[in-house]
Amino acid sequence: MAASLAQTYGCFIDGEWRSIGEQFPVFDPTTQERITTVYDGGPEAIDESIRSAQESLERWNGLSAQDRGEILSGVANALRSEKEHLAKVETRESGRPLSESRYLVELGIDNFDYFAGLADKIEGKTIPVSGDRLDYTLQEPLGVTGHIIPWNASFVLASRSIAPALTCGNTVVAKASPETPLSLLEMARIANEAGLPDGVFNTVAGDGARTGAALTNDDRIRKLVFTGSRATGETVMKAAAENVVPVSLELGGKGPCIVFPDADIEQALSDMVNVFMNTGQICFATTRLFVHDDIYEEFINEFAKAVSELEYGPGIEDHDLGALISAEAQNNVDSMVKQAVSNGGRVLAGGELPDSTGHFYPATLVDEVADDALISCEEIFGPVLTAYRFEDEESVIKRANDTRYGLSAALWTGNLSRAHRIAEDIDAGTIMINEYPAVFTAAPFGGYKASGIGREKGVQALDHYTQTKNVSVSIGSSRSWSGDKERDPT
Ligand code: NAD
Repeated sequence: MAASLAQTYGCFIDGEWRSIGEQFPVFDPTTQERITTVYDGGPEAIDESIRSAQESLERWNGLSAQDRGEILSGVANALRSEKEHLAKVETRESGRPLSESRYLVELGIDNFDYFAGLADKIEGKTIPVSGDRLDYTLQEPLGVTGHIIPWNASFVLASRSIAPALTCGNTVVAKASPETPLSLLEMARIANEAGLPDGVFNTVAGDGARTGAALTNDDRIRKLVFTGSRATGETVMKAAAENVVPVSLELGGKGPCIVFPDADIEQALSDMVNVFMNTGQICFATTRLFVHDDIYEEFINEFAKAVSELEYGPGIEDHDLGALISAEAQNNVDSMVKQAVSNGGRVLAGGELPDSTGHFYPATLVDEVADDALISCEEIFGPVLTAYRFEDEESVIKRANDTRYGLSAALWTGNLSRAHRIAEDIDAGTIMINEYPAVFTAAPFGGYKASGIGREKGVQALDHYTQTKNVSVSIGSSRSWSGDKERDPT
């Protein structure tokens, strides 16, 4: 059954739907049907959202940490009670297989649960400075935070930054992507109905150049969180620099996965199929597959067989793969594969653009491409893996690291020492050993190199949504400056 949706979605500002700006259609990438229309509120809606988020700041961070935690826990419960609806909304707008949407929605709700539990555990320190003084730190919120969300997994990616920002006492203005705005707008509505005060969490859907830029350029925003492509990340970082605002960037990836001959091959083969999750539209997808020469032929034949058995179809029918987000994405994937083939690449599975209404592309495996071929270097963001042979550990680490990205890597080996050695040597923020995927709410996630700045998830994420205040209290009789060399006048 399809998700029930409003005919038109406004901007969610100050606890209510507002019809600001122009309406734009949201299409189902499977059927090309118009699902609904949404207001792109543009700069006016962003301005009102920021004003509302500013006005509600004191009310929100003035609550006790326990009360904030309780409200956020209530938000998690309310989202959970609508999880099937949310999963269907995500599948409808993104084309993703329903069971994957259910999994990602559950992960998104976990973010609210996890950070709700941390609300009363945000602690300062006492510092042993010289003299009779009590010196301590306070972790304080930053203010109004701006969150720019991509289309590929809106619900979980939005909750990943919004939940910790709220936990720390900040308020939120989120910019939803025009391709998949609905699950984030629904999240804002449900959170508000669950007791989050009006104005604490505002959401505006819209394009990047106007609506997104209005958010990133506004000097009332005290923290920017961006998830998306490297190119847009650069633009957001420049805007943050103009206003001297801290920025977290979660960008793209081109992760390696490496299979050694001593691995549990059955396990590696079945894990590897998961790289096609979300039809390959996942930033941490490890799409460069390195297989040791000794097992290459056997492994790759088995894997090609498994890949060709993956079926695509409407997300709501829950096939292995759904539709890609747009015709443009589909054409991009197809042209990358065609270019690889024209340069000598061998297609072992998939590789044919189907004649279908939806933006489908089959699960595809290509080998015999050079390490510096376009398909080996650029993020494909589609269901395509490229395979390479390797001979020894040293050379495969070098090749695995030969990318501007550093988001994730996966390896399969039965040798414990090798596993830890490689985990240390690979330049990536997440290393998955003997399973894929392995990303958790409590474990930090983020990129090395051009894959980003900062870490989301885990306790570490709280650092990005607080600022440190140092307080020094004289509690002794001697307060004279002279002879107190440790006191720093700067
Ligand atoms: P994108 O950069 O095109 O858009 C991301 C968001 O930025 C959208 O909401 C868009 O409207 C907005 N935007 C565009 N131009 C803007 C501007 N000038 N100012 C402000 N906002 C602007 O990315 P996408 O195509 O939506 O997402 C796919 C990319 O995201 C891939 O590269 C993928 O790897 C990356 N991604 C990274 C992570 C991660 O955690 N590292 C997670 C998911 C996706």
